[in-house]
Amino acid sequence: MTTGTAGATRPCRRCPSSEDRSLEAVRAAVREQLSWEVDLASDEVRDARLDLCRRCPDLAAHTCRRCGCYVEFRASLLDKTCPRGSW
Ligand code: SF4
Repeated sequence: MTTGTAGATRPCRRCPSSEDRSLEAVRAAVREQLSWEVDLASDEVRDARLDLCRRCPDLAAHTCRRCGCYVEFRASLLDKTCPRGSW
């Protein structure tokens, strides 16, 4: 997958394309990545962020086209923000 803004695209540097992975596989990868993180958002904050992501035109499969992150990963990190300013 490629990602980007204003027509530009760039691939995620760390994760395989989410279009090639099932939701279950993406969630397993996200769980593993999050096991190394310490500053996690609360479940309520994460879920509110993901509700916005699900309605966003920049969501492709499970990946944000703007930043290249799995949205379940990015939304779970307390200090991350949406590259569109949605959350
Ligand atoms: S992080 Fe922001 S830009 Fe990316 S999919 Fe979610 S709402 Fe859209």
